[in-house]
Amino acid sequence: MYIIYKHISHKIAMDLSRLRQKILLLDQKRLSLMKTLLRPLPMISGSLYQMRRPCGNPRCKCARGKLHSSWYLSTRKDKKTKLVYIGKIVPERLSTRVRRYQSYQKTLAEIRKIDSEISLTFNQLRDTKLKTFDKGYQ
Ligand SMILES: [Zn+2]
Repeated sequence: MYIIYKHISHKIAMDLSRLRQKILLLDQKRLSLMKTLLRPLPMISGSLYQMRRPCGNPRCKCARGKLHSSWYLSTRKDKKTKLVYIGKIVPERLSTRVRRYQSYQKTLAEIRKIDSEISLTFNQLRDTKLKTFDKGYQ
């Protein structure tokens, strides 16, 4: 009986240390992600889309499969998706700003995921010390 008890308490101590370690590592990761968001550069929200289509002229090269290409920026405004025509090429400045926005959003999502992992791990840590109330024990 003693041996079993000792084995169990050792396992719990291991779990506690593992849970603490996990929380601290997640917190470090969270902080390094946060640092990348502290000084944002100009951004444009949305996604760039390339559309290829024929113009309708039967003597054009597009009639033989070389379709015309144009770029659009898809943005959401007032809960509606709007397509803004850009042109045949995407200006570098625009693609950079769209990329920045997407990367910022991705990092924010990672932080939210870490937050919920930290919260979950704290719950596990708390539950290792959770006792049931017993009137006879008092
Ligand atoms: Zn054409």
